[in-house]
Amino acid sequence: QKAEWAKLVNEKTFSSDSVQVELAANIGTPADVKGVLENGAEGVGLYRTEFLYMGRDQLPTEEEQFKAYSEVLQKMEGKPVVIRTLDIGGDKELPYLNLPKELNPFLGFRAIRLCLEEQEIFRTQLRALLRASQYGNLKIMFPMIATLGEFRAAKGILLEEKEKLVSEGIEVSESIEVGIMVEIPSTAVMADTFAKEVDFFSIGTNDLIQYTMAADRMNEQVSYLYQPYNPAILRLVKMVIDAAHKEGKWAGMCGEMAGDPIAIPILLGLGLDEFSMSATSVLPARSQILSLSKEKISAHMDEILQMETMEDVVKFAEENF
Ligand code: PEP
Ligand code: MG
Repeated sequence: QKAEWAKLVNEKTFSSDSVQVELAANIGTPADVKGVLENGAEGVGLYRTEFLYMGRDQLPTEEEQFKAYSEVLQKMEGKPVVIRTLDIGGDKELPYLNLPKELNPFLGFRAIRLCLEEQEIFRTQLRALLRASQYGNLKIMFPMIATLGEFRAAKGILLEEKEKLVSEGIEVSESIEVGIMVEIPSTAVMADTFAKEVDFFSIGTNDLIQYTMAADRMNEQVSYLYQPYNPAILRLVKMVIDAAHKEGKWAGMCGEMAGDPIAIPILLGLGLDEFSMSATSVLPARSQILSLSKEKISAHMDEILQMETMEDVVKFAEENF
């Protein structure tokens, strides 16, 4: 099997009926790019920039960040690289920010909420990203967007920093796509509205499932509620993909679900454009997709979305795909 997979390293990803999708990888540091390329990923679908900020006692400078982002972009040689702005909070703390303890950190002051408030942190990161943009194919993604107002505010700040840089004579790419993580149910429900303004969606199922099922993703006792195949989740995923396509945008997924062999046929059938997963899952996923007919799976989608439980969905997927 390993030898079979190895043959697919430099291949694109097609279903048996010739529908193309993109298989990308999730990374946490520039050093991870090596594994991305060795495993034949077609891009980076999620660069979690938190790690630049963690395990130290002060914020990373604009220069440090510029170095990390441009290194990733350069090494990826023009392949798409989705870099997510700071997603701190929840389970990821930054002690040096001295933020007040919260009763419900996963529902609290985190990610884009913090960035819109602590704007110097956000603007420094955006400047580093914009300066790095000329080294490759950069796409900027905002995490934990719950309202259109948050997206507009974040994009407004990005455009302000871009104008400043341009007026200083610094080169910035003119083709940076700006998108959002869909990981809060309100945003999935309103995807049709968001799709008019964003360039792309990436569905963060780790959090989308947590917030839809109201079950802490870190709490073992409620882990049975982490249900990627629950029809409720599948319906939300479908809403997001359909909304993107209606506006001519692309929809990806960067939560764990994107690399799950049971979920992959269903996601293909729903029309997902980009799957971002751990690098080591890319070749098995490519091999699996090669054997799947998108048309055949799509014909079962209405039936699947009408199922009553996740167990029904899993049983059907195992028997049919
Ligand atoms: C997600 O929420 O699905 C996701 C990809 O982001 P993280 O796991 O970093 O919260
Ligand atoms: Mg998340």
